[in-house]
Amino acid sequence: MAFEYAPAPESRSIVDLQSSYGLFIDGAFVDTTDGRSFKSVSPATEEVLAEITEAGPGDVDRAVKAARRAHTRVWGPMSGAERAKYLYRIARILQERARELAVLESLDNGKPIKESRDVDVPLVAAYFFYYAGWADKLGYAGFGPNPKSLGVAGQVIPWNFPLLMLAWKIAPALACGNTVVLKPAETTSLTALAFAEICQQADLPPGVVNIVTGAGDTGRALVEHDDVDKVAFTGSTEVGKAIARAVAGTDKKVTLELGGKAANIVFDDAPIDQAIEGIVNGIFFNQGHVCCAGSRLLVQESVADEVLDRLKRRMATLRVGDPLDKNTDVGAINSAEQLAKIRALSEVGEAEGAERWSAPCELPERGFWFPPTIFTGVSQAHRIAREEIFGPVLSVLTFRTPAEAVEKANNTPFGLSAGVWTDKGSRILWMANQLRAGVVWANTFNRFDPTSPFGGYKESGYGREGGRHGLEAYLNA
Ligand code: NAP
Ligand code: MG
Repeated sequence: MAFEYAPAPESRSIVDLQSSYGLFIDGAFVDTTDGRSFKSVSPATEEVLAEITEAGPGDVDRAVKAARRAHTRVWGPMSGAERAKYLYRIARILQERARELAVLESLDNGKPIKESRDVDVPLVAAYFFYYAGWADKLGYAGFGPNPKSLGVAGQVIPWNFPLLMLAWKIAPALACGNTVVLKPAETTSLTALAFAEICQQADLPPGVVNIVTGAGDTGRALVEHDDVDKVAFTGSTEVGKAIARAVAGTDKKVTLELGGKAANIVFDDAPIDQAIEGIVNGIFFNQGHVCCAGSRLLVQESVADEVLDRLKRRMATLRVGDPLDKNTDVGAINSAEQLAKIRALSEVGEAEGAERWSAPCELPERGFWFPPTIFTGVSQAHRIAREEIFGPVLSVLTFRTPAEAVEKANNTPFGLSAGVWTDKGSRILWMANQLRAGVVWANTFNRFDPTSPFGGYKESGYGREGGRHGLEAYLNA
């Protein structure tokens, strides 16, 4: 049934890994003064890739001070046209080093090379190009004739799209004249550190970008630092709530991009083959480690059997394995902790009475793996229909009428994204109006573009990133 494929590994020799990395503060890699170090592993092999610094509060303070100096003396007063030159330069270097960055991202995160190469890294460059274009036009962006930067931005990002989330944070902040201190996720620091090198290569003035690696405590020290003007966070709803509490009563501006439990809604008039590809892309792209993943399939009852048959057939052809193999569709789960969470919630799904089916596939012995999985017979009360699993696990529900689809889709504490599959344009527009989700995709899923704002309703957070809207979070208008 399945074809044998010869291995097609991307060479990792293009990546020059150091055995240990310091913090990037004030334009230089420096040692910690009050932190420690930890090991970063490849989730596909558990091989130790490098020793990373865990920044202490003193390190975070040094980074914020460097960012403040750079904002006051250099970056804040600089004209938008001059700032744009640096951003364009960074964007071009990102393109020049694209292959290296893609390999590094797949090595550290576990995502398939075809995704890091064709999606993550091209989008990273695109966001820098896009915001470079805004830097000298901020007076025309609709936020008043002379909007000002906020100052120092403290930014905390998750591990699922390490370099892309960095771009979403740093590109608009810098374009608007802010300086930044960014904390990458503990398990995926390497591409942020490569980005620090790129800042040096672009001759970015010292202190404009600072990278403090570490875990939750480092993130907390950053968002709670008194001299941070703006907090931008992407991550779980739980930590987002803690951050909202921590900054309440201060005059810090905050944007929160949190979790999701998106409905991917398939009507009986949908082009079924395309919808199957959209369902697969919606939940198995990036191993389902996607905040806007289509993790709830809502399929119209009259086509449910056909859709499920075809979906299972398609899932059986997905190639799970080595992230650096160019044929791989589904890579490794990012960490042992995340794998444990996916397993635990999947067991809850079975215990609650849903029926579990996994694609037949051989999983490597070492590393963290989970097969593409669907649950049928799921009801709205089931935890697997309500909670974010953040893995390659799809919950399938059915509906009869468009009104029922809307009601089920909106029956969630989240509101980040949704998908609609139908032949009828009028139905797409009607659904888009009814769905309480920041992004609604029609006959496609998981499409990203720098010109398009992204963000959530309800427990998916507040504020928008991307597009003209994304400037607002970094301007005093
Ligand atoms: P997480 O646990 O909330 O972590 C996110 C980041 O916050 C990490 O860098 C983490 O550090 C740090 N952190 C942890 N505790 C903190 C605290 N008290 N104060 C400040 N920072 C703290 O989320 P995750 O598990 O890594 O990421 C998955 C979640 O992110 C999912 O819920 C997903 O939906 C969401 N997400 C949302 C979007 C979006 O745009 N809406 C995009 C991607 C992901 P360490 O991890 O290093 O310990
Ligand atoms: Mg890692």
